[in-house]
Amino acid sequence: MRFEHETLAQRVCFTPGEAPATVRAEVQRLGGSRVMVIAAATEADLAERVTAEVPVVLRHDEVVMHVPVESAERARAAAAAHEVDLLVSVGGGSTTGLAKAIALTSAIPIVAVPTTYAGSEATSVWGLTEGAHKTTGVDARVLPRSVVYDATLTLSLPVAMSVASGLNALAHCVDSMWAPRTDPVDQALAGEGIRALAAGLPAVVADPAGLDGRERVLYGAYLSAVAFSSAGSGLHHKICHVLGGTYDLPHAQTHAVVLPYVLAFNAPAAPDAERRIAEAFGSASAVEGLQGLRDAVNAPRALRDHGFDEADIDDAVDAILEVVPANNPRPVTSHGLRGLLRAAWQGTDPLTTVGEER
Ligand code: NAD
Repeated sequence: MRFEHETLAQRVCFTPGEAPATVRAEVQRLGGSRVMVIAAATEADLAERVTAEVPVVLRHDEVVMHVPVESAERARAAAAAHEVDLLVSVGGGSTTGLAKAIALTSAIPIVAVPTTYAGSEATSVWGLTEGAHKTTGVDARVLPRSVVYDATLTLSLPVAMSVASGLNALAHCVDSMWAPRTDPVDQALAGEGIRALAAGLPAVVADPAGLDGRERVLYGAYLSAVAFSSAGSGLHHKICHVLGGTYDLPHAQTHAVVLPYVLAFNAPAAPDAERRIAEAFGSASAVEGLQGLRDAVNAPRALRDHGFDEADIDDAVDAILEVVPANNPRPVTSHGLRGLLRAAWQGTDPLTTVGEER
């Protein structure tokens, strides 16, 4: 066994029901005296509750998915004008993403309080969109110094969004098994992430107001993001990155739909990953495990339900082919990728439509 694994320096606090006190303690620990709170308008109530006890100089709610450059510039200017020395983000991946965009150019530390299962808070990956082009990068300055996980903050997340967001986390786990820098530590984290998500998501659906399922999903989401941050973007993330950035598709739902098709595509060529994923699901095969979970939680089924146009498939194939990871377990041809995208667009059975090259 020979590998190099980098562990990111971040403090993680799991304190159910105690976010206000934990955030206050983290702000004090980091010496924040002029705090900018970032939360979308829909997250403002949660943010007010969570930041009631910290020295806030500015509340900023212009949050847009995939962080358009212009909104990042406005947020950076506002932070500078108010001499902000600490950012507290309270919200989903879009909100965390805006805080990261400010930190990227200012190095202002972030305390992240996630309210979805996107996992951005545990990665040093930033993303910005200019026109229809999304750029991502890795920078230590954008990694939140502290993350405060409080599952009670996800109770208001509607069930359908909880499912899509949890499957986005699951996609981090699955892709981490074969991503460019994958190593045994990432794979162990991803396996435990799959176990937590596979147990937690059905519990959220069965009892949306209960904490047990939501805590498990939050824990799984954290593990998934740590694995993903270390392993890098595999084929699944490259596909979703192009779809989300170019066609403005909803992030979590796109991941939720595309995942079984990438798994069915890669699994025959990645037996170790296939076995690990199947074991984590406790099922005979990886795809069977994923499909069983998707059925149980009524997962999003087809890209055509989420704004993707059939006429864009060919252009998307061309754009994705340029960014396919060189180490993908199965060679990715234009024909294979077109079949994968068409199946995901239609929502057909992944095994019969993309399992073998036709
Ligand atoms: P989101 O942040 O856009 O949130 C979706 C919707 O849910 C929004 O309207 C939001 O206000 C609302 N919401 C959030 N929390 C809520 C709550 N508890 N109750 C009720 N409503 C709530 O979506 P997302 O899927 O969390 O994040 C997607 C974005 O995150 C994308 O831009 C994606 O690229 C980015 N992302 C980045 C990374 C990374 O490592 N950099 C990882 C994952 C996702």
